[in-house]
Amino acid sequence: MADRYLSFTGTAPGRFLTRRLGLPQPAALERGSLTGGLLHLAAGKTDLDLAPVLARTGLARDEDGRPAAVVLDATGVRDVDSLAEVHAALHPVVRSVAASGRVVVLGAPLDPADHHQAAAQQALEGFTRSLGKEIGRGRTVNLVRLTTASAASAASAAESTLRFLLSPASAYVSGQVIEVAATAESAAPDDWDLPLAGRTALVTGAARGIGAAVAETLAGQGAQVVVLDVPQAEQEARKAAERLGGTALALDITAADAGERIAAALPGGLDVLIHNAGVTRDRRLVNMPADRWSSVLDVNLASVLRTTDALLAAGAVNRGGRIVATASIAGLAGNAGQTNYGASKAGIVGLVRSLAPRALAEHGVTVNAVAPGFIETKMTAAVPLLIREAGRRMNSLAQGGLPVDVAETTAWLAHPASGAVNGQVVRVCGQSLLGA
Ligand code: NAD
Repeated sequence: MADRYLSFTGTAPGRFLTRRLGLPQPAALERGSLTGGLLHLAAGKTDLDLAPVLARTGLARDEDGRPAAVVLDATGVRDVDSLAEVHAALHPVVRSVAASGRVVVLGAPLDPADHHQAAAQQALEGFTRSLGKEIGRGRTVNLVRLTTASAASAASAAESTLRFLLSPASAYVSGQVIEVAATAESAAPDDWDLPLAGRTALVTGAARGIGAAVAETLAGQGAQVVVLDVPQAEQEARKAAERLGGTALALDITAADAGERIAAALPGGLDVLIHNAGVTRDRRLVNMPADRWSSVLDVNLASVLRTTDALLAAGAVNRGGRIVATASIAGLAGNAGQTNYGASKAGIVGLVRSLAPRALAEHGVTVNAVAPGFIETKMTAAVPLLIREAGRRMNSLAQGGLPVDVAETTAWLAHPASGAVNGQVVRVCGQSLLGA
């Protein structure tokens, strides 16, 4: 469903009227390419050598133009005094950041032995989220916390994440704190434009909606995709697979042997496993029969646990593999009428946090989640008008996201060079005010 309000505020009379009435001012997001250079600033004393990585983002160094992106290295911020350097660095430039531009702040882990450093580093989160809420014009602000011990390895471990956050692919990702750790499991691809070449990716629930966009994006980055969906959707799944040069797998993911059947269908193993299939069966708890509860828990959570366990146990997820599950802001903030759905999506967060370190240690596989906010799909088009309008506007970008925004975020987590990103739950929600 088209967002007519967004189109209206893009016209001169629309802008005039909505400003006069104090209504939200969404800016059309740039999903093609960012125009402008990159400004690299620092606060506090830093050892991080980011220049080679930033040079590879494709954004030219920009000292006095209208930057498309600003990277502030705040890893050296150790106390309240050095926090003033954050203000000093960004205060003069924030106004000049281009529309749909990016601000990325780099932070360090909180030092348990130094509460002054911990206070100053935690302060960066409140700073980032507040700037994200006020910056406007489609601009995003995110914090990347580098938990790597050595400055040399931190810059390369963060490369795929910086490339993502400094590109149009992250148009609907704002106000996030993303941890990047040290790992041996990151591999720079031969070709950054086709990072998934030679990799097999299975996407559940990929016949339509967000899953279809994920399959398309992964295929566009070189992956051989397997489009999995329920037998009733086999025809759409086949069509999507044909279009993408992949294969379709008609399978209800809640089948007790779904993991074994996936493993049998992919003798060469899997490199990327995307748990996207999901359902809603909304009712308030007082009116919710047990079958509505269990069907949602089964598709959204139990089947994710079951198939992940089966595929890992069978060694069917190759080393260097990536698992991305789909949570939701309803799982973080809660939502009336969705006790079943909210429980299932919060369960995904628990799964990811617990499994991620073990899956990496034992199988060389990362496990992360995307948590979409209001995404323009058939699911949200069916929401009553007023609730839909509230869902669209109640985020810093004052609009809904597109399936491609979730797909691009998933592709970054699935990237061979994203091995340092593990156990993260990344919201694709335009910095929703819900559960913030
Ligand atoms: P959708 O209903 O358009 O698509 C879901 C797909 O999953 C369908 O093709 C369906 O056939 C498939 N599916 C359902 N049960 C299955 C099963 N048992 N086995 C195999 N496939 C099954 O939904 P969507 O809006 O594209 O959402 C995709 C995911 O994103 C879901 O997990 C959803 O909860 C989550 N999400 C969506 C939004 C949003 O705004 N649309 C917000 C937050 C989270």
